Amino acid sequence: MSETASGSQAPSSDEAFRLELREFIGEHAPDSEFVEGIRVPTNPAEEATIRGWLAALYEAGYLGAGWPPEWGGQPDHRATRDLILMEELIRARAYRPLDQVMLASHALLEFGSTEQKQHYLPRIRSGEHIWCQLFSEPGAGSDLASLRTRAEPDGDDFVVTGQKVWCTDGQWADMGTLLARTDPSLDRHAGLTAFLVPMDLPGMTVRPTREMTGSEEFCEVFFDEMRLGPEHVLGGVNEGWKVITSGLASERAFVGANALQLEMMFQDLVELARSARLADGSATAEHEDIQIQLAGLLTKVEAAKHIVRDVVERILRDDEHPSDGPFAKLAYSELYVELCEAALELLSSAVSVDERGHAAVERWHASFLWSRALTVSGGASEILRGLIGRQLLALPRA
Ligand SMILES: Cc1cc2nc3c(=O)[nH]c(=O)nc-3n(C[C@H](O)[C@H](O)[C@H](O)COP(=O)(O)OP(=O)(O)OC[C@H]3O[C@@H](n4cnc5c(N)ncnc54)[C@H](O)[C@@H]3O)c2cc1C
Repeated sequence: MSETASGSQAPSSDEAFRLELREFIGEHAPDSEFVEGIRVPTNPAEEATIRGWLAALYEAGYLGAGWPPEWGGQPDHRATRDLILMEELIRARAYRPLDQVMLASHALLEFGSTEQKQHYLPRIRSGEHIWCQLFSEPGAGSDLASLRTRAEPDGDDFVVTGQKVWCTDGQWADMGTLLARTDPSLDRHAGLTAFLVPMDLPGMTVRPTREMTGSEEFCEVFFDEMRLGPEHVLGGVNEGWKVITSGLASERAFVGANALQLEMMFQDLVELARSARLADGSATAEHEDIQIQLAGLLTKVEAAKHIVRDVVERILRDDEHPSDGPFAKLAYSELYVELCEAALELLSSAVSVDERGHAAVERWHASFLWSRALTVSGGASEILRGLIGRQLLALPRA
């Protein structure tokens, strides 16, 4: 760790790193608690706070630590530190880095020209540029390669026409990674190109969508003959599929933090059972059916923790199996839903919640409304089950 993180010499162990980081988060993280599913800023002051917080994490050397040192990474970086970073952010319920920004950073590092890296990477580190992803379309989600947005070559330029959906953070992002079809005569995976797109170009319309959480986190984005010069191509014309599937490189270990998230949710649930009271004044936790339900959930949380930690160990050894990611994500997202459902069920049987449970009630409502999204984003559960069946169990394609 550099001196900028704490003003002191490098800690000698991961534990010292964790303590230093905890102190940093305690001192610098924005006061507001991170609520699942409500991440998008609602006013300019909130937006400035988030950008400032992300910039502080980069500047201190915690975020982007796995980047090559010439672009601001730490020369002695180890992937375990990415995991510790995410765990400590979750533990503190602090605002977390945006997936889309991390994915854009890695795509730039792997496929960007020197000019593109020089222009965009410092702006990511300073919080000036927030990125979004312009991949999914009304008819192309799980089967992304069927996308229809066209980027037709016109001299050296490309003219983009089409529509994207589910664009997280599109309304406040400065840049987007766009996947569009440049050659319809090629195989559907081969004719796609990735572009780096400023989100305020003429010909682009961004329309936020209100979700049931009350938040406007996603956008529809329309392109009407939007013109892009050749400097916007990332990784070569018709090479887009490779660019967008290249993965998260060093920050893959972030997935391990999900184990802590589940553990904290379970502890919250136990606390809720203690504080939620039935009509006869007893706490729900005193009742045998609730105790049995909690015990059952605990075994599932422990199982999911082992699955996720096994995967992380393999990631750290660079010995990952193709179905590791799907397996860990499925275990995490499905149990997340189950924990939320249990909390809501518990609350629906209660007539009151004592003071300890007040903050938790709001959190559970937001998490419940958000939980289903986790079983769709980053690979829907049905798709992941199919992958696991084929890759891990060698079952035939249905
Ligand atoms: C929280 C969240 C954030 C997102 N952020 C972004 C973003 O920033 N940028 C972006 O481009 N996209 C984003 N998406 C979109 C996401 O990538 C898609 O929702 C996802 O790929 C699924 O596509 P779809 O919604 O079109 O559903 P579909 O692919 O139409 O699937 C609908 C249902 O059919 C099932 N299904 C589909 N195919 C099969 C199959 N072969 N076998 C079995 N079942 C199948 C699915 O499992 C699902 O239940 C986000 C989505 C969510 C929920």
